[in-house]
Amino acid sequence: MKNIDRLIMETISEAKGIYGDGFIPLHRPIFEGNERKYLVECIDSNFVSSVGIKVEEFESQIAEFTKTKYAVATVNGTSALHVALEVIGVVRDDEVLTQAVTFIATCNALSYAGAYPVFVDVDKDTLGMSPKALEIFLQANAEKRNGACYNKSTKRRISACVPMHTFGFPCQIEEIANICSEWGIALIEDCAESLGSYCGKSHTGTFGQLGILSFNGNKLITTGGGGMIFTDREELAKRAKHKTTTSKIPHPYKFVHDEIGYNYRMPNLNAALGCAQMERLPEILNIKRDVAVQWKKLYDGHSANIVVPGANSIANNWLNTIILDSKSDRDNFLEKTNANGVMTRPLWTLMSKLDMFKNCLCGDLTNSLWLEDRVVNVPSSVPDGKLKKF
Ligand SMILES: *Cc1c(COP(=O)(O)O)cnc(C)c1O
Repeated sequence: MKNIDRLIMETISEAKGIYGDGFIPLHRPIFEGNERKYLVECIDSNFVSSVGIKVEEFESQIAEFTKTKYAVATVNGTSALHVALEVIGVVRDDEVLTQAVTFIATCNALSYAGAYPVFVDVDKDTLGMSPKALEIFLQANAEKRNGACYNKSTKRRISACVPMHTFGFPCQIEEIANICSEWGIALIEDCAESLGSYCGKSHTGTFGQLGILSFNGNKLITTGGGGMIFTDREELAKRAKHKTTTSKIPHPYKFVHDEIGYNYRMPNLNAALGCAQMERLPEILNIKRDVAVQWKKLYDGHSANIVVPGANSIANNWLNTIILDSKSDRDNFLEKTNANGVMTRPLWTLMSKLDMFKNCLCGDLTNSLWLEDRVVNVPSSVPDGKLKKF
């Protein structure tokens, strides 16, 4: 039997070993805590929409967990990133550096802010933005004038950089933060996938001016749909809260709005789910670490490369990830595992290949292209019966 066929067979049996028989999703939500109780409380209180105590409670939980001073809840991660870009000062026709290896939401948010994405390469080991590629791109294409960074050929301002911690593996964010501050570029971390992931002792999202999270149904924890902006800077948090609440000036009965705002505030119902999920987060992270250890044991005996967090960083193990030897092995793997009820998934099509972004500026994307053909995610949910019963 060929190596890849053995790998596929053992992946299927390992998945069934961890999750039992029947269809195995890639990542499913788990509601075994106070979700029902808080939802009912919410309904009984009549506060189900964008005003209510659960929103503030959930924001405090996230601020406390990430050790940041402020957190602002939003309807989803995309809107969190959109508003984060606006409050940091990204304006129409700016360029924003990001990675081609990301979910579409990153680039959608950049586009809503009117910015042009510019794609730099990722590192093969972290799957996240490469500080070296970032520096090379800037040296070749950018100049600093009056403390701001400009693209020498397009003349546009390069106002921000949005790296993403892919599948929860922290990228080399300290190096990226240093480069950004040297060049006068704002740093916003897309932590949609990295709640519970750390570089050193610091939570991802705390290395630049703002971080954003997503609580979509497939993420580490969920509010149904939801997002969060977190930051240490009070003025940014205030601006974010203002913009997400239709830019209404607080008043007991008058409606005055001082700029175009958004209806992006997270409803209390969703926050109620989030409060219950946050109570289980440490436990969820522990169980997911055990699952990751199991997958690592399997793949360490094979030619497949399992992605592990870099030295000095901790991953949340949101999605376990392997890198296969070739595109044909990858296709074979995807086809057979999915046909056997074990959901596995390839990397996203690179953003730089999508119609909307195919004319955007790119650095050299060698690693991104290489990974696009080889990366696969394997099932990573918390298995049934592992969370302590309440
Ligand atoms: C999930 C996700 C988002 C935000 O998505 P929403 O569905 O809007 O919450 C943003 N960036 C990345 C990388 C994501 O995976």
